[in-house]
Amino acid sequence: MEDVIYTTCTLDCPDGCGILAHVENGRIVRLEGHPKHEITQGFLCGKTYRYPERVYSPQRVLHPLKRENGRRNEAWTRIDWDEALDIIAARIRNAVEAFGSLSIMHYQRTGSWGASKLLSRRFWNLLGGVTTASGSI
Ligand code: SF4
Repeated sequence: MEDVIYTTCTLDCPDGCGILAHVENGRIVRLEGHPKHEITQGFLCGKTYRYPERVYSPQRVLHPLKRENGRRNEAWTRIDWDEALDIIAARIRNAVEAFGSLSIMHYQRTGSWGASKLLSRRFWNLLGGVTTASGSI
């Protein structure tokens, strides 16, 4: 049985195209433009039509990976989320303790305005604020 989920594109075009996501057994099988969206009226660009290919691509990285000792010529090894988060938390904690939270630079560009991207700002603010860039680096 197919469900239709009403959603919207999170990429950063001003129109934010309306999307109807056709889902079967929990899997997106097709996207189409929402025909009743006031501005985009059923339009979706080619990039977004192909989103399901990206979402289900076997090339997607779905798990944390680590290089032993951080060496560039080492192979990536899969680690679990707890280990990955412990490594990151330790590095953030060390930077804050040694130099203050402003020693961390958070860089984020446009391209997508999904909720998870906005939540990262909240995280850094709770830490006491970090350095951000004005414009592109
Ligand atoms: S579907 Fe394409 S044109 Fe529409 S908001 Fe997304 S990226 Fe922009």
